[in-house]
Amino acid sequence: MASKPFATGHCLCGAVSFTIHAEPIGTGQCHCKDCQRASGTGHMSIARFRKDDVAIGGQAASYASTADSGNINTRYFCPKCGSRLFGENSGVPGVINIAVGCVNDNDWFVPGRVVYAKDRPRWDVTSTDVPNFDRMPT
Ligand SMILES: [Zn+2]
Ligand SMILES: [Zn+2]
Repeated sequence: MASKPFATGHCLCGAVSFTIHAEPIGTGQCHCKDCQRASGTGHMSIARFRKDDVAIGGQAASYASTADSGNINTRYFCPKCGSRLFGENSGVPGVINIAVGCVNDNDWFVPGRVVYAKDRPRWDVTSTDVPNFDRMPT
């Protein structure tokens, strides 16, 4: 892993940072009410990576909640500045979902799908040119 990383990122205050060593294995945007509350806006833009490909610096705080599926969704945030950084889902072990807004250069991001489209607020626009799912597809 000495080569140039795929991407780096950090929270607003810089206390928590991450380095990503490989390309995402999936991308998406989520309009579920939990993501709306956690982000304070209409959706989260997320890129999924293999956990082994991501190195995290600093200590994030976390909050776990139960998703519709019954899986546990753990969202990590900076305890100092509150930035949402990444998340894990108990149904998808070994995978980490990075909040794309915290990635330094994120021009590569193209959402592959939109989930919980049923909860999309009128005022928050995401693409309908990619697969849209009313819930989380299994
Ligand atoms: Zn911070
Ligand atoms: Zn969500």
